[in-house]
Amino acid sequence: MAAQTVASTTDSTTSSAVDLGPAAALTCRECGHRVPLGPVFACEECFGPLEIAYDFSSYDTEELRKRIESGPANIWRYAPLLPVPADVADKPNINPGWTKLVQADNLARELGVDAGKLFVKDDSGNPTHSFKDRVVAQAIEAARAFGFTTLSCSSTGNLAGAVGAAAARAGFRSCVFIPHDLEQGKVVMAAIYGGELVGIEGNYDDVNRFCSELIGDSAGEGWGFVNVNLRPYYAEGSKTLAYEICEQLGWRLPDQLVVPIASGSQLTKIDKGLQELIKLGLVEDKPYKIFGAQAEGCSPVSVAYKAGHDVVRPQKPNTIAKSLAIGNPADGPYVLDIARRTGGAVEDVNDEQVVDAIKLLARTEGIFAETAGGVTVGVTRKLIENGLLDPTLTTVVLNTGDGLKTLDAVAGSGLTATIRPTLESFRDAGLG
Ligand SMILES: *Cc1c(COP(=O)(O)O)cnc(C)c1O
Repeated sequence: MAAQTVASTTDSTTSSAVDLGPAAALTCRECGHRVPLGPVFACEECFGPLEIAYDFSSYDTEELRKRIESGPANIWRYAPLLPVPADVADKPNINPGWTKLVQADNLARELGVDAGKLFVKDDSGNPTHSFKDRVVAQAIEAARAFGFTTLSCSSTGNLAGAVGAAAARAGFRSCVFIPHDLEQGKVVMAAIYGGELVGIEGNYDDVNRFCSELIGDSAGEGWGFVNVNLRPYYAEGSKTLAYEICEQLGWRLPDQLVVPIASGSQLTKIDKGLQELIKLGLVEDKPYKIFGAQAEGCSPVSVAYKAGHDVVRPQKPNTIAKSLAIGNPADGPYVLDIARRTGGAVEDVNDEQVVDAIKLLARTEGIFAETAGGVTVGVTRKLIENGLLDPTLTTVVLNTGDGLKTLDAVAGSGLTATIRPTLESFRDAGLG
């Protein structure tokens, strides 16, 4: 299961008229069936999920490395490895990526990790302050190639904002769907770009089900749903996290990565990206471990991992980590496969530990993470305590969003004291 395909040949039966660079075809992740590039996401043979297969056969390693290094300071430096046309950097796009890889020595000290070994990949620095800009930037290029004029999605919040912004910049109409009870920061962020924003009475899985129905109805005709009918293209955006981490480490693979899981797409594509870099000779071929992180209140993958199951039993989410609150994660079985194959694990932390970890990261490294970052930092701490993560090895922890979007999670934080504007008052408060 979850065989990762790096196609080396394009056969004539699957060649396609659309120009999406090195993307050669769609292949089924279950049965390997190949179809031409198009806005489809499920295999016609077995209903398995489709993903992009590439033709990288013409690449010379050193030339490719030079081309990447001289490229723009955003994800398009990796255009030769993505389903986008070669001139993608000239099109109107919000150009995410090339976010900071922070060497987190203060956090390392607190967690008992060796100095110089712990890094935080801080994706709060993207245009709409979450990792979702990476995947939407890909989806919008596919939408252009397939002639869609309306962009849509089902979202736990961050995706809605990313779609709104990317659509505004690229001149698409957008209409996105979210659970009606999301954090205010995410609702405002999604609404501000001027697209249509619809709250659905239900949780994310209800929203997702509704979008699947809409796609089959005339009301959704001509719509590109970034995470449904454009999902194979969208998903590839997560590979850029793997590319950036390795390039920022000096073209080295980290030994361990701690990655958040919502649908599990990001984690599986980070693995795909690392495998590609190895096959292309851009990094040395050595083992790495991928650890998945969930919140206890929505931990279907972690529960399945610990029980030794291959299938993921859906849950009804109840956690402050709403960006990760997908109770029926599409890529769950593939995540289990990768965690087991690489020697990683899947772990979860409760909401209190999420909040503690947000505060820990903020006070040690000056990074204000959203709840998803609290999940990965909290899980990292737990994995070290459990002895599953080796504190002597190079470890990258992902922060995928900005704390300003989930202020409610840390609502207790506030003033140290309120004083009159006098020195006496300052001293009386015990501050001088
Ligand atoms: C969407 C999201 C993720 C990961 O989502 P996947 O569905 O697993 O790819 C991680 N962090 C944040 C903040 C997100 O919004």
